[in-house]
Amino acid sequence: MRVAARGFDLHCHVDLLPDPVAYIAECDRKRIVTLAVTTTPRAWPQNRRWTERSSFVVPAIGLHPELVGQRHSEVGLLEQFMAESPFVGEVGLDGSLSYRDTLPIQKDVFSHVLVSAERIGARVLSIHSRRAGREVLSALIRHTTPARVLPILHWFSDSTAVAAEAAEFGCYFSINRRMLDSSIGRAVIRSAPAHRILTESDAPFLRAGRGSSEPGDVIGTIVGLAELRGVSVEEMRGTIAFNVERVFAFAGISSPCFNSASLHDANG
Ligand code: MN
Repeated sequence: MRVAARGFDLHCHVDLLPDPVAYIAECDRKRIVTLAVTTTPRAWPQNRRWTERSSFVVPAIGLHPELVGQRHSEVGLLEQFMAESPFVGEVGLDGSLSYRDTLPIQKDVFSHVLVSAERIGARVLSIHSRRAGREVLSALIRHTTPARVLPILHWFSDSTAVAAEAAEFGCYFSINRRMLDSSIGRAVIRSAPAHRILTESDAPFLRAGRGSSEPGDVIGTIVGLAELRGVSVEEMRGTIAFNVERVFAFAGISSPCFNSASLHDANG
């Protein structure tokens, strides 16, 4: 049986929230499809256990670029777990002032991730690209093909020119509510092709001023997106649902709107 999802969160740090187990139960109750990204490969076994009975929450194996400076030795572990996880994230590059000194090692790790994803195939990546949009896109073009790797640019904040090239290459964009309020965010939202738009919470990092993160927060983001793009909320929800379905199909999961059997069969 197929149960319709009410919201879509393609980038959520479930394991950094105060009570991950309760949050996952809430996602299932509210029917919010959630990609639980991780920041270190060491967190993978626990995230996999937490989500194995969930119908709506899927884990992603990641190594956050902000942690690569200290944790680059975990890249072997990351590549090992990538074999069992069609979803990979959070990975990417961060060129902002605080992390710029580790960019060479970040690039090395990101290249390894991309080469592995391309070799394994059917991998969906949730990618961080703060102050490194151009570098991320160049690495994707160099190491991956759209037939084998599906990139989702999370909280993209580079220029619309880079966004357009990224869309041309095959990138998706996961949009959070903070982007609705920034000029570059709004420009990206307006210019992105409809078939490449997804929503995300980036919980718990958008909390400021709004109390705690709720699985339903992403539903409000659909409303904001619809307004900015001049379409009805229903149309926007339908577009995103269709896009999410395409992303999950790429990962070998037939329907994200889901029954748990189809999801976990595909996960192996
Ligand atoms: Mn994040």
